Amino acid sequence: MSTSILQGGCLCGAVAYEIDGTPEKFYHCHCRRCRKATGSAHASNILIEDGTLRWVRGEDFVRIFKVPEAKRFARQFCVQCGSGLPRLVKETGFIVVPAGSLDNDVPIRPQARIFWDSRAPWSCGTADIPAFAEYPPG
Ligand SMILES: [Zn+2]
Ligand SMILES: [Zn+2]
Repeated sequence: MSTSILQGGCLCGAVAYEIDGTPEKFYHCHCRRCRKATGSAHASNILIEDGTLRWVRGEDFVRIFKVPEAKRFARQFCVQCGSGLPRLVKETGFIVVPAGSLDNDVPIRPQARIFWDSRAPWSCGTADIPAFAEYPPG
């Protein structure tokens, strides 16, 4: 997969970003934390290794919430509208991009559902892609 420029922003428009990088992984995560953080059945996150995240505007609106007892689970968001925003995870070097925040298409499609054992009873299904009880192998 080749390098691409991903563009996105929040619901209110205060924050916009650009990412240079190669999207490596794309997962729907059904873990409890992702369900709480998104208010939905799962988070849809794209992982980019060795990418560059630039705030095009509204960096002052960007806040982070880290779950105190979590190893590295955190949520970056717009303080004005609450929308999820990309975040550089320093420990791993990956940029985690909430796919719904993107304004352009990406050269990648969801590869798996993870933390499937934590799904809500009303969750959407598995027919299309593999589902892993927790993290995917590897
Ligand atoms: Zn906003
Ligand atoms: Zn999760």
